[in-house]
Amino acid sequence: PADVETLGRSTWTLLHSIAATYPTTPTTTEQSDIKNFMRLFAKLYPCWVCAEDFQKYIEKEKIRTQSRDEFGNWLCEAHNEVNKKLGKPTFDCSKWQERWRTGWKD
Ligand code: FAD
Repeated sequence: PADVETLGRSTWTLLHSIAATYPTTPTTTEQSDIKNFMRLFAKLYPCWVCAEDFQKYIEKEKIRTQSRDEFGNWLCEAHNEVNKKLGKPTFDCSKWQERWRTGWKD
């Protein structure tokens, strides 16, 4: 299997890209789909220690899905929690769309 770092980078790319294409005004079905996806993802993520912590995080910090920006911010905060745990710098969540959707200006 891919090492924890390579797997992590690829996975964050996928998750933030999903947030970037999540509807601005999701239906109740779309909201329940993303919640179910995230819960199953947290069970199946093939780094077991990572998955265990992420499941606990999801229980503690309820997944917010009322809009694209709300879900993107929730995900950014979840990613920051992992950054803190690993001693990495945290990311400014007001910039998540710029990083993952619209692109940096330079
Ligand atoms: P990454 O953290 O992979 O980030 C990739 C890019 O995302 C960055 O270059 C930056 O541009 C952007 N970014 C950074 N922070 C944010 C943010 N908050 N919001 C939006 N964009 C951001 N590794 C472990 O060793 N132990 C763990 O317990 C662990 N748990 C994980 C749990 C999950 C759910 C995932 C997906 C990964 C986990 N990882 C874990 C892997 C870890 O998070 C990193 O992916 C890995 O260490 C590689 O880090 P990186 O420095 O390349 O950047």
